[in-house]
Amino acid sequence: MAQIDDLPPLREVIAQHGLEAKKSLGQNFLLDLNLTSRIARTAGDLSQVTVLEIGPGPGGLTRALLANGAKNVVAIEKDTRCLAALTDIQAHYPGRLDIIEGDALDIDPVAVTGGEPVKIAANLPYNVGTQLLLNWISVPQWPPFWQSLTLMFQKEVGSRIVARQGDKAYGRLGVLAGWRTHASMAFDLSPKAFTPPPKVTSTVVHVTPRAGPLPCDLKMLEKVTAAAFGQRRKMLRSSLKALGGDTEGVLEAAIIPATARAEEIDVEGFVRLANAYSASA
Ligand code: SAM
Repeated sequence: MAQIDDLPPLREVIAQHGLEAKKSLGQNFLLDLNLTSRIARTAGDLSQVTVLEIGPGPGGLTRALLANGAKNVVAIEKDTRCLAALTDIQAHYPGRLDIIEGDALDIDPVAVTGGEPVKIAANLPYNVGTQLLLNWISVPQWPPFWQSLTLMFQKEVGSRIVARQGDKAYGRLGVLAGWRTHASMAFDLSPKAFTPPPKVTSTVVHVTPRAGPLPCDLKMLEKVTAAAFGQRRKMLRSSLKALGGDTEGVLEAAIIPATARAEEIDVEGFVRLANAYSASA
């Protein structure tokens, strides 16, 4: 195991604070500080930013972020049992770790990071991670408050986030992520890397904001992609009927063949389609 600081090994921390993993909180801990350091390095230079970490748990990634030079870390954790372990890390890195107890889905990320430049890093239950990713991609102002997102997902979800038109995993998530961001998979982690091991391989996804994404109403883009990929085998003239209005007229305005299927339309095509729907409303 890597020695990245003088704090006790994570197995000892878990035993000392009675942090048996809870399934209900999606707890699969990373105890190898080599691996958490690799995630921290994937986030790039941390010396000039506040790192917002969601779900620090016993603190393996938190320690790696701090040891890798994060200016400071703001960590949001829902499980109160983890707070004592995090307080020990706080004492080891005076003035560099803020611990916030609560549900990340309810907390304003800008308020807790005080308007500082932010990079976000997290190893989260995948359903919470997907929702937070969508929240962070959907913020009204662009460029957003964050410079990058470095997030753990099930590999299957990661593939959907980075998928582009022509990829097997291309769908709603790929269109929404592709519209406003560059997303790539950094590296995979085998189930054995976690305690307890999950059933499937995980992957670290790194996301940066795209400069000047095409203007588009996000709500409309969500509606259009949900309808189109909800019935992905059907032609768009039929799958988009659920949205009402003059389907064929909207498709024509967006310069998209009425007989095309969702998987054949690239991100720009979906943006044109959403804008054509907005214009026809
Ligand atoms: N980051 C630690 C690691 O890598 O070992 C823990 C990872 S574990 C997969 C997920 C962590 O997220 C747990 O500590 C869990 O309590 C926390 N968590 C789950 N849902 C959360 C939420 N909605 N808001 C904040 N933390 C949450």
